[in-house]
Amino acid sequence: MAAFVKPVIAGNWKMHKGPSQTREFFSRFIELREATADRTILFFPPAVSLAAAVEALAGRPDLLLGVQNSHWEREGAFTGEISPGMARDAGARFALIGHSERRHLFGETNEEVGRKVAAAFEAGLTPVVCVGETLEEREAGRLEEVILGQLDAAIEGIAPELVAQMILAYEPVWAIGTGVNATPEDAADAHGRLRRRLAERIGDDRAAEVPILYGGSVKPNNAQALLAAPDVDGLLVGGASLDPESFAAITRS
Ligand code: PEP
Repeated sequence: MAAFVKPVIAGNWKMHKGPSQTREFFSRFIELREATADRTILFFPPAVSLAAAVEALAGRPDLLLGVQNSHWEREGAFTGEISPGMARDAGARFALIGHSERRHLFGETNEEVGRKVAAAFEAGLTPVVCVGETLEEREAGRLEEVILGQLDAAIEGIAPELVAQMILAYEPVWAIGTGVNATPEDAADAHGRLRRRLAERIGDDRAAEVPILYGGSVKPNNAQALLAAPDVDGLLVGGASLDPESFAAITRS
């Protein structure tokens, strides 16, 4: 169904790797992973390591960078936050928005996610919007209500041609960092629901352009099966993206 053919493999480092470890990671990763035109490869290092990453990747324009979070305002009295414009200036091209840890540990709401998505587009960043249900919500039969509600709020008021340029990530909360991945069938089911809702909102053709990534305990040994599932256009990888060998292996899946 998806017109998108080039898989996106993204690594979310969370609160791991300062500048020195970032340099070490990339010096090894670059040895392991030759430039490729058949995958889009993205990294989300901590913001303090972005400059080190930009420097380390100077000769590798195929390896792209983003931030793990960005605020909806351009600047102001928001201690500890970074704006999407600043992130872009520092070398980011993507912004992870609405990751489950932001939603569940830091209380980020659907409405805030929508504001962050709009601000990211305005600053010239591609938002990678994360949605996903908790185990409790899944067991209560609320999967569709939760993930479609998160999607609707994230794209509220955004022009369809911009929505078509974003990346979506389905990350069931119960699969993140737990070692229990969704089955390829579970992922295909959720991705299909998301794709149909996108089609209702922005039309079939545009909906087919949006890469929908699966995230949640992706490892080298399950990446290929997940990537082969219908409507799974890429992977968002947490723990296994911290090791150059395992992430390079996943990018080859
Ligand atoms: C994530 O942080 O987005 C993630 C999917 O983590 P993990 O791969 O460790 O489950």
